[in-house]
Amino acid sequence: MSKTMLTQDHELRERAAKVIPGGMYGHQNAAALPNGFPQFFTRAEGCRLWDGDGNEYIDYVCGFGPNLLGYRHPEVERAASEQAARGDCMTGPAPCMVELAERFVDMVEHASWTLFCKNGTDATTWCVTIARAHTGKRKLLRARGAYHGSAPWCTPRPDGVLSEDREHQIIFEYNDVASLEAAVDAAGEDLAAILVSPLRQDAFRDLELPEPVFARRARELCNRTSAVLILDEVRTGLRLAHGCSWETLGVRPDLSAWGKAIANGHPLSAVAGSEPLRDAARRVYGTGSFWFAAVPMAASLATLEIARRDTTVGHVRKLGEKLRKGIAAQATSHGLAVRQTGPSQMPMILFDDDPERARGNFWTSEAVKRGVYLHPWHNMFLCAAHSEADIVRTLEVTEEAFAALSKSGL
Ligand code: PMP
Repeated sequence: MSKTMLTQDHELRERAAKVIPGGMYGHQNAAALPNGFPQFFTRAEGCRLWDGDGNEYIDYVCGFGPNLLGYRHPEVERAASEQAARGDCMTGPAPCMVELAERFVDMVEHASWTLFCKNGTDATTWCVTIARAHTGKRKLLRARGAYHGSAPWCTPRPDGVLSEDREHQIIFEYNDVASLEAAVDAAGEDLAAILVSPLRQDAFRDLELPEPVFARRARELCNRTSAVLILDEVRTGLRLAHGCSWETLGVRPDLSAWGKAIANGHPLSAVAGSEPLRDAARRVYGTGSFWFAAVPMAASLATLEIARRDTTVGHVRKLGEKLRKGIAAQATSHGLAVRQTGPSQMPMILFDDDPERARGNFWTSEAVKRGVYLHPWHNMFLCAAHSEADIVRTLEVTEEAFAALSKSGL
């Protein structure tokens, strides 16, 4: 069943082009996607989205991560609306801020304190500032191609960025111990922090799990130099583990940045830190008009509780594996080579020999046409609201999309 034309969506895009620079911006800009992907959505529920033309999609992007439990999860929304009835953005925070900080400290093994902000960029930027305040040093080491946000120090685009904004950064290759060691040597006596993501999750590239030896070496190098190890859990948080995802490797960071899923779509991010960093965190001035708003904090409390109680991680992993196996079998039967990388709950699907992404674009737009929203070049996200039946339906659609791709001769 093919969807209806994107008439409303085109009209909105035309209006947007007049009043929004470029018609849209940032990672949600559908201009970067193949034809047939809608730009605007009117509704979301569970794992489903609806566009302005009434088309329904099973969504595998989940807001680029924030949707963890399902859009409009009743328990989260109840907590949010109960708090909204009492107050949201007030002259001071609500008591639930303290409770939420306590919950974070319980959940994140290395943490003995927590701070809250709004976006992942706020959290990663704050981590870097705290690390510099703590060490009194300047150099920041980070992996080539890794995304840590849109501030001038880390944005992937050069426009408007000064070389001074990027000063005191040294780039290393993810999972490459020698490159990390060389970066530490280059920093000399001036090393403030190593900032790293739990896995390599760059757009357009295969995802790569961390080599235990690399993660452990990062910890050792920070110990040796008294630098701060910062783990960016913004994208991975609550999807890989209920807690810090490098615990299983036996590696505890000093600071971790959280965002996206922690309030199931309500705007909230966080910095969690270990005891030695507490004083620097107290001294650094961090604030924002909306950082203390109570509704997202109430939503986060409910989200953390549900995620813990319902073993969300296991559920999304199991369904992700089912999807991955199904897609692998279909690709093989059509003689098409796809690479599925990363944890199954955050799948990345790329085609071999597809430098212009023609196959990926074609295959995902065939899926979108049939009501399954897949992303051609960014890792995707499963959520707790995906069901076995959704995976079965998705696989029917991906089979048709593979058949169309085979026929196309691309
Ligand atoms: N770090 C990582 C690993 C991310 O994936 C993102 C967002 N994609 C950010 C930081 C920045 O988060 P935000 O977009 O909420 O500022």
